[in-house]
Amino acid sequence: MSTFSNSTIFEVKQVSSTSSSQGVFATSPIPASTTILTDSNPLLALPINHTLPSTSISHPEEKLKLYAQSFVNSEPGERQKWLELCAPELPKDLVQMVNKVSEEALSFTLVSPKPTLTSTARAVVVAMANCFEDGLLYVSGLSRFNHSCNPNAIYLPTSQNGKHVKALRDITPGEEITVSYLGLKVYAGRSERRRILLESKFFQCSCRRCLDSKVSLRPDFTRTIPCPFCHPRSSSHALPEEVAWEEVDVSYIQLADEGESAGVCKRCNTTLAPSHPCIVTEDKVTKKILSFLSSPESSTSSPDDMDVDEDTEMEDEMYALSLSTLGPRHWATVQVQMLTLDRACHEINRKLLVGGTIEEVELAEAIDVCERLFDWFGGLGKFGGDRALAKQCVTIARALVSFEDDKSKAYGRQWIEKVEEWITNFESEGLQIAIASIKGDGGQEGGGKKKRR
Ligand SMILES: [Zn+2]
Ligand SMILES: [Zn+2]
Repeated sequence: MSTFSNSTIFEVKQVSSTSSSQGVFATSPIPASTTILTDSNPLLALPINHTLPSTSISHPEEKLKLYAQSFVNSEPGERQKWLELCAPELPKDLVQMVNKVSEEALSFTLVSPKPTLTSTARAVVVAMANCFEDGLLYVSGLSRFNHSCNPNAIYLPTSQNGKHVKALRDITPGEEITVSYLGLKVYAGRSERRRILLESKFFQCSCRRCLDSKVSLRPDFTRTIPCPFCHPRSSSHALPEEVAWEEVDVSYIQLADEGESAGVCKRCNTTLAPSHPCIVTEDKVTKKILSFLSSPESSTSSPDDMDVDEDTEMEDEMYALSLSTLGPRHWATVQVQMLTLDRACHEINRKLLVGGTIEEVELAEAIDVCERLFDWFGGLGKFGGDRALAKQCVTIARALVSFEDDKSKAYGRQWIEKVEEWITNFESEGLQIAIASIKGDGGQEGGGKKKRR
């Protein structure tokens, strides 16, 4: 707690005079990559099998039970700290579940004095809103940073149970310090981002990026489709193939979520009505992709699965659907492509580890996807692509260097240079060692001494 309240670079205060909610604000200039706050002592650490993949929006009863039990069995002093964190209002069905698990936890405990039902229920809500996806809850202030869909700071893991907040870019005095609670879903469209935040953290996001795309001042780059007037679609709403693959000069429309127009094409100047068939298709296809993305089949974390082929097939199908109807620059297409790239990199890493042969074709494909994604992620600022693709770039570099000819080595170094600044400032030591060794391998004379152009 002391590190938090004694900070000389930020303060906690009300977000605005009209709002009761608090936020963290810079009190002095904070240069990019400054560590703003570190905490390695979580108040609560759920067993690992109860953690959920990032951006999972569910609050299963099993998890709520653990929150209630942990609270009831903790020291009175710790309980007090726990209750000081914010507890948002929950939807009715969840309130019932919270009360049920709280009553159960209280009836089964032998501790004395027991906390009240009201405080136990409040503690469960606090944990639901403030627990990180890895099951850790901190009281120090890590949870006090508000969310933004275009944040100026980021949460990063430190030690096993630790996290810190680092500045993503220079932050000026008086500016609110914000982080994203969304993981890679921060690159999803506005309505999807807001739905996740509402269902998992129980608030309506009103960050700049969300508000701007609502009033169509600056449509969100994540919802971009080829203009249906410049590029007429087939009767089944499919894009011409050369448009989907960007073999011609494509005119894109960035879609706004609300308002009388869904967007305007800069080339033909036509206004797209929200009821236009291509918007209806966009909605349908996006929903389908989303349900695929949140299904267990889309998880790349279980490579030993028997059904890898089946998963890949489904993934290819989703990619084809998304690409042929939404085009290559829509966030739904990008999210499926991320899966494809992760899978490819996983396989390349596996081969590097066991000394298998990496086919030039598979590497070329990964490189092609990664390049496209890199450009796209860059739409959210300086560190967009680096943040989303650092590990994948390192895999590609490693594979290139493994070919051992000078040309591949030089190309491998270029991939490291793309993400070097990001990795040096923000990634784990493991990844930093990895890039140092790739640069060492790739360097000619001077064995590992870096030569910058
Ligand atoms: Zn937002
Ligand atoms: Zn047009």
